[in-house]
Amino acid sequence: MTRMDDAPDLTPSAAEAAPAERRALVDLAAVRSNVAALRARLGRPDGASAALMAVVKAEAYGHGAVPVARAALEAGADRLGVAHVTEALALRAAGVTAPILAWLHTRDTPFRAAVEADVALGVSGMWDLEAVAQAARAAGRRATVHVKADTGLGRNGCLLADLPALAARAAALQDEGVVDVEGLFSHLAVADELDRAAETDAQAVAFGEATVVLDAAGLRPRVRHLANTPAALTRPDLHHDMVRVGLGLYGLSPFPDRAPAEFGLRPAMSLQTTLAAVKAVPAGQGVSYGFRHRTAEPTVLGLVPLGYADGVPRIAEGAPVAVAGRRVPHVGRVAMDQLVVDLGPGAAERVGDPVELFGPASGIPADAWAEAAGTITYELVTRISPRVPRVHVDGAAVGEGAA
Ligand SMILES: *Cc1c(COP(=O)(O)O)cnc(C)c1O
Repeated sequence: MTRMDDAPDLTPSAAEAAPAERRALVDLAAVRSNVAALRARLGRPDGASAALMAVVKAEAYGHGAVPVARAALEAGADRLGVAHVTEALALRAAGVTAPILAWLHTRDTPFRAAVEADVALGVSGMWDLEAVAQAARAAGRRATVHVKADTGLGRNGCLLADLPALAARAAALQDEGVVDVEGLFSHLAVADELDRAAETDAQAVAFGEATVVLDAAGLRPRVRHLANTPAALTRPDLHHDMVRVGLGLYGLSPFPDRAPAEFGLRPAMSLQTTLAAVKAVPAGQGVSYGFRHRTAEPTVLGLVPLGYADGVPRIAEGAPVAVAGRRVPHVGRVAMDQLVVDLGPGAAERVGDPVELFGPASGIPADAWAEAAGTITYELVTRISPRVPRVHVDGAAVGEGAA
């Protein structure tokens, strides 16, 4: 069994894995298969293929950045993407040598360490360009830069109105040998809403304008990238030189009404534990804080030792849970450490029986929990807390403990 912070290559099959009381089981074979499925979509009419950046920020959306990054690279991902430089440095410290881009900085970002570790830096404005240039000078080596344009999302990225000045300064620094403007990129706002193509089209047009601005400044970025998972899956016209894929790597669909399988994707994470208690209760038994549930008839309740401290959203009442392969309702409030399921009158389940909240073995999609929580799968998997060990396995016995 490997945990997020363990040595790299110990990735046994689930059958060999020592049991963890609770675990986010992550199947690296699914990650590799998802990379292959995504790459198969990246061919272009001219016969060339867009490159694939595996976005492994936020511990690979809760899946474990180092093992996921390795699996994605093995399967043919070309680069890695993270939000923070510190995330990139952690990958370098783990021995990951692939190209990495980090794009969200503060005045306290360790830019010099990034340059020294050969981490490419997104640059959204004059302050971060100057900070990167200063770091490159201090480090005595050229910094690799991807200029980030704001084509409409309104977060970081340089507005088109400000881009000529930024491009001119970047070109001057490039001429001095301080930076190499390798890339131009931007991020889409509504690509996951298929009925809002016009707004994505407008961002695509603005991205073209950003290219023209850089060109006028004498910059010819070799890697232009715009697409996230939804656009990688549905907008081949926006693939450009590279796509940046996060959610799809993990086998999740960004579209509420389209299952991952429609795109050849397999969910990589299963949230599992075992029943901690089973008890027959009479009708009228209150269940959990606030008595938001009372049993309507005599029944058997099962105690699942996962709660909001583990990242199960407190608001998600009523989502399905699989106990020994059988779907049963979750009843009452999610507490800090535990939640309760109604196993039904005469239920035969016992303490120690396998429980799965979501995952391929039970077939419960992470979406079911995301929906019950009024959120998206991005948040659901990312918020699984550090109290839940990530257990990485490689294929086959994903169902171990849950079937
Ligand atoms: C998180 C992020 C991505 C990945 O988005 P997905 O929808 O998960 O593929 C891509 N680009 C940027 C700039 C991001 O911040």
